[in-house]
Amino acid sequence: MTEQNDAITLSGVNKWFGDYHALRDIDMTVAHGERIVVCGPSGSGKSTLIRCVNALERHDDGTITVDGTELRDESSIDAIRSEVGMVFQQFNLFPHLTILQNLTLGPMKARGLSRGEAEARAMKYLERVRIPEQAHKKPSALSGGQQQRVAIARSLCMEPKIMLFDEPTSALDPEMISEVLDVIVDLADSGMTMIVVTHEMGFARRAADRMVFMDQGAIVETGTPEGFFENPQTERCRTFLNQIL
Ligand code: ADP
Ligand code: MG
Repeated sequence: MTEQNDAITLSGVNKWFGDYHALRDIDMTVAHGERIVVCGPSGSGKSTLIRCVNALERHDDGTITVDGTELRDESSIDAIRSEVGMVFQQFNLFPHLTILQNLTLGPMKARGLSRGEAEARAMKYLERVRIPEQAHKKPSALSGGQQQRVAIARSLCMEPKIMLFDEPTSALDPEMISEVLDVIVDLADSGMTMIVVTHEMGFARRAADRMVFMDQGAIVETGTPEGFFENPQTERCRTFLNQIL
């Protein structure tokens, strides 16, 4: 049963790619304002899990409910996508547009904002990610860390209720990781509901309410960051933590 204060509920979710069982009986609830960090070995289903939440992948079995709407048909998918922002490892900015144009496109097309309104909103979120001075440049003039902050601002311009991050720093040079994580921590502190797939365990300790460890398509372990790091319950989780810490 879905509680009214749940932002996301997955219940008995399964997903196959052909014969490959990519998600196994996933049960997971995210409360409004909760910050979840998902970790686990490569290929364990982390991306598939969060891609199912905004229907970039369709689940085969079980139910996914986002902010009270069950993911079913096209109209529910549209409704859910308009509430859920997603940031990927690759920034996917339009190279021929300025930063400001990248940020105003969605709000003008999908939200019906005027150019002036969209630009004001874009500047607000560029300030939030601490690069308002880059507004009139093209993406190629920015560092990777700056481009990823633009990608975050672009999502925020749609004013989502929920943000999903899929390894947002794994394509970045090491010296740029913290500037991006700091922005995500700020967002976490502001009360945004979020699921972050990351192996940045320092970030997880700062920002996560709850850790979810996946292996072979299943949620193997979940708990507070303290419990998770100090006292992992399964051998698989201990092995994983030993490899990355
Ligand atoms: P993770 O993000 O944890 O590294 P993924 O969710 O990307 O893992 O992938 C889980 C498994 O599903 C992997 O074995 C991957 O090869 C497989 N997979 C993911 N996407 C597809 C797809 N579109 N078609 C076929 N197999 C896929
Ligand atoms: Mg992945």
